[in-house]
Amino acid sequence: MRVKINVTGIVQGVGFRPFIYRLAVENGLVGYVRNRGDAGVEVVLEGNAQKIKNFMRDLTDKKPPLAQIYSVKSTALSGNNEYDKFAIIKSSEEAELAGSIIPPDIAICNECLAELRDPKNPRFEYFFITCTNCGPRFTIIERLPYDRENTTMREFPLCGFCQKEYSDPANRRFHAQTVACPPCGPKVYLTTKTGEPVSAKDPVRKAGRLLSEGSVLAIKGYGGFHIASSVMLGYPLERLRATKHRSQKPFAIMAKSLEAAKGFAEVTSKEQELLNSPARPIVLLNKSANYNLSPLVAPNLHNIGVMLPYTGLHYMLFDQVDDPAFVMTSANPPNQPIVKDNEAALKTLGGTVDYFLFHNRKIAHRCDDSVMRLHGNRPVFLRRSRGYAPAPIRLKARSKRCVVGLGGELNNTACVLLDDKAFISQHIGDVENVETRAFLQEATNHLYDLTNCHSEVVVCDLHPKFTTTALAKEMAEADGSPLIQVQHHHAHAAALMAEHNLEEAVTIVCDGYGYGTDGGAWGGEVLFCTRESTEFMRVGHLEPQPLLGGDVASRYPLRVAAGMLDKAGVAVEPWLMQNSVHLPFGETEAKLLLDQLEKGIGTIETTSCGRVLDAVSAVLEVCFERSYEGEPAMKLESAALTGKDVLNQNPVLHGDMLHTSILLRAIFESRQNFSITDLAYSAHSYLARGLAALATEKAQELGVKAIGFSGGAACNQILAKIMREAVEAAGLRFLVHDAVPAGDGGVSFGQAVVGGFSRF
Ligand SMILES: [Zn+2]
Ligand SMILES: [Zn+2]
Ligand SMILES: [Zn+2]
Repeated sequence: MRVKINVTGIVQGVGFRPFIYRLAVENGLVGYVRNRGDAGVEVVLEGNAQKIKNFMRDLTDKKPPLAQIYSVKSTALSGNNEYDKFAIIKSSEEAELAGSIIPPDIAICNECLAELRDPKNPRFEYFFITCTNCGPRFTIIERLPYDRENTTMREFPLCGFCQKEYSDPANRRFHAQTVACPPCGPKVYLTTKTGEPVSAKDPVRKAGRLLSEGSVLAIKGYGGFHIASSVMLGYPLERLRATKHRSQKPFAIMAKSLEAAKGFAEVTSKEQELLNSPARPIVLLNKSANYNLSPLVAPNLHNIGVMLPYTGLHYMLFDQVDDPAFVMTSANPPNQPIVKDNEAALKTLGGTVDYFLFHNRKIAHRCDDSVMRLHGNRPVFLRRSRGYAPAPIRLKARSKRCVVGLGGELNNTACVLLDDKAFISQHIGDVENVETRAFLQEATNHLYDLTNCHSEVVVCDLHPKFTTTALAKEMAEADGSPLIQVQHHHAHAAALMAEHNLEEAVTIVCDGYGYGTDGGAWGGEVLFCTRESTEFMRVGHLEPQPLLGGDVASRYPLRVAAGMLDKAGVAVEPWLMQNSVHLPFGETEAKLLLDQLEKGIGTIETTSCGRVLDAVSAVLEVCFERSYEGEPAMKLESAALTGKDVLNQNPVLHGDMLHTSILLRAIFESRQNFSITDLAYSAHSYLARGLAALATEKAQELGVKAIGFSGGAACNQILAKIMREAVEAAGLRFLVHDAVPAGDGGVSFGQAVVGGFSRF
């Protein structure tokens, strides 16, 4: 008999054809396997019916570890005896809307790592050693199908040795598109900051020594450049902070090994699993009692972002030094995407670094590292990028149409929703200028190419002035397709509901800023949403608070605190004057603010939860300036970690509003009586209990069984924990994000879901 089998899923670039080849040969079947232009795999088999049956069983039972099968469709074909053997044949360009996708980049596997260290192996110490089970994928693919000529490995023709392995069905590198060795593969080289070659027999280890001695380097990896430095010495870090205009933002680090990480951080078994996973994300770990890295790595935070090496090059950096880790932060000039091209790196990073460690393989698509943390035993995404994108989020319901969501403004991603799969792009960043806009556009088009889908509906934020809104309008117009604008917090809620396949839910969204349906600055919302509707009900919110000076107040938390305290009836003058050193223009500025307060001018109102946390942070003197997104709130969480609720303030609800003036006043008046830790915890407790009470009450009125928690502040572990206890005590389900970030990296997904599931 003869059958044709189409397999969809993540089946290209994961050793699937070699697996099929071996399976067919084992079963004595003839025919062929080939990659298709839609990222799927096509198999034609001829032979005994029972053997074909065995083949079909093993196809799913024994698939390669990184393969994911979404569907297997087999059709009987007429004819017989056409083939005399089984072969891997040239890929077809044939493509349909099948929902397959190429895999994310995969960290070096244990077998390759062992070979990297084996002097008898021809790839001994080869910095880009890979096989069918590991190596870059997403970042090197220019188009489908996944064949070497469609990747940036095209420029490195296989040598005889590599070709032999590539053609040997018994070899781990049989049809591995990234296979390379020292004579034929990409080369690594060291230059000065102006691009002058630095002669080095062993450029990678020399780079490691330079880092250890205090130099700052730009190191090209899979998805872009990292800026690297010592974690032990102060002066390179000081320099880095000065030139990167990042006085406080924590730097991610790469630890030499798990053992090394345990020297300065607490690592639970779940965290260990995550650190070691093929995606190798940055994991936020609590600093341990023995923490001995420079305080400049992650100032005033209880945790630190740590990842393990994920390429041969990374492992080799540490070979000749004793450093437990190096700073490895994405190299992106302010408001620009991560740098990926050698020329651009020289131009934009030359002022920051002493040396470059380049390689000569092009990066087709940039991809920042992913960031995760654990809430209890539950992994939570802060940024979903390298190692995860473009693998889809699998939904339990089917979208009515193919939709693209372009996200919001900060920490952005794009999302293409097709059928029951949501393909979310790599991290794009803050879309505020032409460069990031171009990156978003490019990433979206790449998703279209990879999924073979073009959206019928374009979805964006409600904000009339976002760059993404303008882009969405252009795209919709060019395609003649409808445009839907989704309110920011509705998108957060919809993302959470889709992850959990909920028809309806009440969702608490704790966030920084989102444009409300009334044009206001929202950010502490309780929303009732249903899957079928583009509309929602705002069933609760935080008390509107004045932002002194508007947007600038989100940079200087003292301004928020002064406005809130004044509203709460506190005479703020002495306190504000006393703290005026923390304002950029000191007393002059403080006097101006007092004048504005008296006259009631120069403020806008916001219900933002982030701003309340900022104000508490300023009153407790934890943080006076937000130099990076979420800084005051993150530092407040760090401060609150070991605290207890000493205020036990009953949440004051007024209709659908939770009072926050009362909270800030109570904290202000108790600040001499209790520790910062306890007061910081008490603030979290009030907000979490108050919002949970509000949401529970509304859910019970509406007959809704589930309460969700989303938004940028939902990655706050203390808020999430207290809310969960309160909601579950009321007999309702409490849901948080598992698959996408709670912050704005998940907004494009939420938008796409509204566009895909609602009736309109
Ligand atoms: Zn490998
Ligand atoms: Zn070779
Ligand atoms: Zn948000």
